[in-house]
Amino acid sequence: VATKECSVNDLIKGVLSFSAAMLRKQKINVKLHLSKKLSGILADTEKLKQVFVNIIVNAAEAMPEGGELTITTEEGKNAIAVSFSDTGEGIQTSDKSRIFDPFYTTKKTGTGLGLSISYQSIKLHGGTIEVDSEPGKGTTFKVNLPVMPNFG
Ligand code: ADP
Ligand code: MG
Repeated sequence: VATKECSVNDLIKGVLSFSAAMLRKQKINVKLHLSKKLSGILADTEKLKQVFVNIIVNAAEAMPEGGELTITTEEGKNAIAVSFSDTGEGIQTSDKSRIFDPFYTTKKTGTGLGLSISYQSIKLHGGTIEVDSEPGKGTTFKVNLPVMPNFG
């Protein structure tokens, strides 16, 4: 991948600024908890923004009556974690293992490609993507990205 040093917080803000109208229209209230002291990461910024967009669009689609989307960034040991929590319909336990499969969708007009592409992109970045969900309550996607190696 073609990578450059970037700020995860800036990527999130950029993606939100062009999703803002859609989210407002769908009555989705966004809460941001961005850590002020994050290291930079090496990333293909276009690919990473696409991953964030996919997760945000899925969250919006899971909250057709509106709801809350909480986005959190925090730095752990050698990795930055970006969490997206929605108050949507949730994912059935039996579906959880399939949502990253290509063409797996529960939507009438879904492609089922967003999460499988996202999974591949995050893997190329040396990171991981996990899901935690409670049917009827909501879903959290957590993306872990390795901090830029320090060649000191
Ligand atoms: P698509 O959005 O086209 O269905 P995705 O790969 O983006 O394809 O998502 C696959 C499936 O994962 C969705 O059809 C849906 O069942 C489930 N899913 C993804 N994100 C969420 C979410 N935030 N809440 C509930 N279900 C979700
Ligand atoms: Mg999708």
